[in-house]
Amino acid sequence: MDVLISGAGIAGPALAHWLARFGFSPTVVERAPSLRPGGQAVDFRGEAHLSVLRRMGVLDAVFAARVSLPDMVFRDPSGRERCRLPTSYLGGDVEILRGDLSKILYDASADDTEYVFGDWITALHDDGAGVDVTFEHGPDRRFDFVIGADGMRSGVRRLVFPEYRPKFQGYYFAIWDDEGDDRDLTCAPGVLTAPGWLMFKSSVPPELMPYEVIAPDVYFDSISQVRMPTVSSGRVTLIGDAGYGSTLGGMGTGISVVSSYVLAGEMAAGGDAFARYEALIGPYARGCQGSPGRMLAPATRLGMWARDRLFGMLPKAPMFARIDMLRASAIKLPEYVLVA
Ligand SMILES: Cc1cc2nc3c(=O)[nH]c(=O)nc-3n(C[C@H](O)[C@H](O)[C@H](O)COP(=O)(O)OP(=O)(O)OC[C@H]3O[C@@H](n4cnc5c(N)ncnc54)[C@H](O)[C@@H]3O)c2cc1C
Repeated sequence: MDVLISGAGIAGPALAHWLARFGFSPTVVERAPSLRPGGQAVDFRGEAHLSVLRRMGVLDAVFAARVSLPDMVFRDPSGRERCRLPTSYLGGDVEILRGDLSKILYDASADDTEYVFGDWITALHDDGAGVDVTFEHGPDRRFDFVIGADGMRSGVRRLVFPEYRPKFQGYYFAIWDDEGDDRDLTCAPGVLTAPGWLMFKSSVPPELMPYEVIAPDVYFDSISQVRMPTVSSGRVTLIGDAGYGSTLGGMGTGISVVSSYVLAGEMAAGGDAFARYEALIGPYARGCQGSPGRMLAPATRLGMWARDRLFGMLPKAPMFARIDMLRASAIKLPEYVLVA
């Protein structure tokens, strides 16, 4: 069966890998002209994340590319240290630059997947037996299923659930230095910045933000959360940030790889696969979503004081790191019958 995946970030290539192993023929259409290399460190934590990477055969590659990053230090504009987030709390079991991870997942799927770069879906028509797809550039095609893995501002979600908007958390976030991950941060009320990195509070709603004027090598997005009552409609569903996103700190990368295994496995099992996928992944993903904007860059001096006290307690309270670990592991992975 032919499956179209929109988006070649993290969830898209991971899902393509699993679909091929369950006997499907995946095609991935990515809006960017090539794989997007950017992003800073993302992490995997807990047995569910690691187990899916192991089953994919990429765990060793992920550990080989791991980065070891320092504590996140928060300073006044004068340079005085206010507080720090320990690396043991931030890094999970393994940290890797997002671009390196995207390439590993692409490599693990490329042999059995048709990748189309520089194109995107403009219309979908689901007639119950298949989905007719119109692209901006390529010819119309028909697929058995279409999966939106196209991130926080998903094009598939816009087409299928036009009334839905991600919940804006009141902050924006930009990264323009792909190389480093500078964790020496300067803060002021509602602002957090480091070389190549900026988070700021704003009341401008994401719909009014002129994303298209932002330089292409800058990753710029609102800090938002996707919480939908359902992510599926007919033969179309959403995965990763498109369906369960939470910009920064929401374990989006771990959720994406776990969801890719579950979605492909349930599709292979047949029947009402999307309903079973949502029943398993929905509660798990929602349990992992956080709201890092307010936490990292409070808008008031009192809020900053409270943040400093809270972060100051973390090294003495390892159970906080353990809570995230428990959330990340709060799913029993089903066993599916593989074809390859
Ligand atoms: C360049 C970049 C840098 C990032 N940096 C960080 C970071 O530093 N820290 C962090 O925690 N998270 C970062 N993220 C987000 C992180 O990758 C996701 O939260 C998470 O891994 C889930 O991945 P995803 O595949 O669902 O979404 P994403 O990784 O966002 O991938 C979505 C993909 O879909 C493509 N796309 C978008 N719209 C369309 C469309 N209409 N048609 C076809 N393709 C489309 C995008 O170009 C992108 O390649 C970054 C994402 C990107 C794209």
